Amino acid sequence: MAEALLAFGGNLGVPRDAIERAVARLAESGVVALARSAFYRTAPWGPVPQPDFVNACAIVRTELAPEALLRLCQATEWACGRVPGTRWGPRALDIDILDHGGLALDVPGLTLPHPRIAERAFVLVPLAEIAAERMVGGRRVADMLAAIDTAGVDRLAEAAPS
Ligand code: ADP
Ligand code: MG
Repeated sequence: MAEALLAFGGNLGVPRDAIERAVARLAESGVVALARSAFYRTAPWGPVPQPDFVNACAIVRTELAPEALLRLCQATEWACGRVPGTRWGPRALDIDILDHGGLALDVPGLTLPHPRIAERAFVLVPLAEIAAERMVGGRRVADMLAAIDTAGVDRLAEAAPS
């Protein structure tokens, strides 16, 4: 049994519902959330103009190996409304594996820990809420967060519409 860190994001439909559904579906497959951050509204970046994202992170327990967890996450993305589209473009749900039991892995289709954590405020802000003291890729989550600009990442009230 390993603990993995997952990042969720979406900006089509009602992303908060898609993330809630994804967390529930993962639990049905034995990937149970030990903690989930609040939801954050985050400004999109990159070449494609698109709506704001909603992001969240979770700590999960899993018996699945990294590749199997990725396949389950991808199946969950599709089950929760993702359709084919541009990379970096709008999507109903994206699930990234940030870390899997501290493992370092680089195989086609899967790099662990996720290589872009340290530059992504929309990952580090929610992640620090539930795993500030954790080491990911040799660095403390709180230290990575302290080193970047977090403008444009706003915590959503639990009850407010997304
Ligand atoms: P994004 O980079 O926005 O997450 P996608 O969700 O389309 O874009 O994912 C692109 C590819 O990233 C996927 O095909 C997946 O195989 C690969 N990938 C590599 N490492 C990881 C990881 N740690 N977690 C999730 N996907 C990963
Ligand atoms: Mg992804």
